[in-house]
Amino acid sequence: MVKIDKEKCLGCGMCVSMCPDVFEMDENGKAKVISQKNTPCAKEVAESCPGEAIIE
Ligand code: SF4
Repeated sequence: MVKIDKEKCLGCGMCVSMCPDVFEMDENGKAKVISQKNTPCAKEVAESCPGEAIIE
């Protein structure tokens, strides 16, 4: 189950660029999870997230 820690998210948008089928920016400029289907991609981006905000 992929989740975003909104407190830690820096709003850089990298996860959205890397996995657009998993992440989207919300109305507050933080990432949000829109699908649990592509977890390998989410796992990869979790390692490079600058805020370490992606929990999987
Ligand atoms: S890569 Fe990390 S810090 Fe950047 S928008 Fe996604 S969750 Fe937020």
